[in-house]
Amino acid sequence: MANIHKSAALAAVDAHAPTILSVSDQIWEFAELSLLERKSAALYADTLRRLGFEVEEGLGGIETAFSGSFGKGKPVIGFLAEFDALSGLSQEGCSAERRPLVEGGHGHGCGHNLLGAGALAAAVAVKRYLEDTGKPGTVIFYGCPGEEGVASKAFLARDGVWRKLDAALTWHPGTANQVASGSCIASLQYEYRFTGTASHAAAAPHMGRSALDAVELMNLGVQFLREHMPSTARIHYSITDAGGDSPNVVQPGATVLYMIRDHKVSEAIRLKERVDRIAQGAALMTDTRYASQFVDGTAETIPNEPLEKLLYKNFSEIGVPQATEEELEFAQKLRGTMDINPAAIIDEMSGGDDALEDIIREKSDGASRAYNDFLIPYKFSKRVHMGSTDVGDVSFQTPTAQIRCAAVPSGTPGHSWQEVSCGVSSMAHKAVLLAGKVLAGAGIDLIDEPGLLDDARAAFAGATRDGYHCPIPADAQARPQNLKG
Ligand SMILES: [Zn+2]
Ligand SMILES: [Zn+2]
Repeated sequence: MANIHKSAALAAVDAHAPTILSVSDQIWEFAELSLLERKSAALYADTLRRLGFEVEEGLGGIETAFSGSFGKGKPVIGFLAEFDALSGLSQEGCSAERRPLVEGGHGHGCGHNLLGAGALAAAVAVKRYLEDTGKPGTVIFYGCPGEEGVASKAFLARDGVWRKLDAALTWHPGTANQVASGSCIASLQYEYRFTGTASHAAAAPHMGRSALDAVELMNLGVQFLREHMPSTARIHYSITDAGGDSPNVVQPGATVLYMIRDHKVSEAIRLKERVDRIAQGAALMTDTRYASQFVDGTAETIPNEPLEKLLYKNFSEIGVPQATEEELEFAQKLRGTMDINPAAIIDEMSGGDDALEDIIREKSDGASRAYNDFLIPYKFSKRVHMGSTDVGDVSFQTPTAQIRCAAVPSGTPGHSWQEVSCGVSSMAHKAVLLAGKVLAGAGIDLIDEPGLLDDARAAFAGATRDGYHCPIPADAQARPQNLKG
């Protein structure tokens, strides 16, 4: 028999659509950077209170982290929301031309305005279900700030916050509709600050000790390290302080920011120790000193097959909205501003699976369809995506699964002005409501059928048997990063 309460709960997403989409659009406009999302967090807290959730602010001592919960007892279902923007990506909405709204301003280049709103939609629907049925269960909306620059979910994981959940569900806006299987790589960010001695570069070069030389030697050392590290690892850097603009002053201070990644967080931690020794060597060679400072860190993601199957079942039942002629036309125009690589688009969507590739090639007309308004069949995958997310740290503490919904045209690069442009479009709005319904549908099934959670727990226990190596040092504080401009 059809579950009428579930249908009513999913319909509540449409009933609340004006509120949910207005939150999404306002957050798009606020476009606040990591840990500075004060207006965004306040808007969520107000909205959640108005909708009848109990709000707790300042989670884990992080000003813009918060939760909104409703209900009593088990199971406890968490929906994860992000809402930070990226610097330099200010862009007019629904425009197929690069047109910043504010010169040098920020923009939602990763669609986190949509992400948070979709999680809100899911929380609203599950709350409605709990109200209508009177069943035991708790739904918690988590406002997780600073995904781009700080990894607040990992900080909260250090405090064990996610262990109280029976399951965590989330989504990410993207170019396709699918259950996101596979893993993301672990990542550590550390800043290395070298200190030397300033001096007149011509008159007294022997008195100077160059911190910039130390940075250069460190980078060179890491360059040689790359040949001798696992092929699963990646190391990136940027010089964030070159020690000033005057070549005739020996640079007394210089800073380089390193990002060290590997498939497993335990491996990334080991690799970071080798990078530390290179910094030490560079300091010795230049007679300077160095100090390293933790910036952020995330663990790899642990996929959970039972939860992924459940999300897929709901995704299939709910179905995917079609793009209108107008939406396709806009998407086509926007695609004209991108480098479209059909093979790469299909590979990305298929996760490298040959059978899926054939299906996707057909459904997307060889990646020429401007919106991927179809659902990609689900396949459990162990593929490791070369990107990192702090959802990984959640997935070490509770069974976690994610979906992606097509909010932007096929081929849209992440962290791009094109993505910002789409963030207030009608397709993006459809994706928010779709994500909310699919996540809520799965959450409701978990409340209804305890056996589903048993399966999810068993898969989780097997996959996390080696334990969680939290990438966040015990004394580290979440602080805003990379906030220049
Ligand atoms: Zn991003
Ligand atoms: Zn993102």
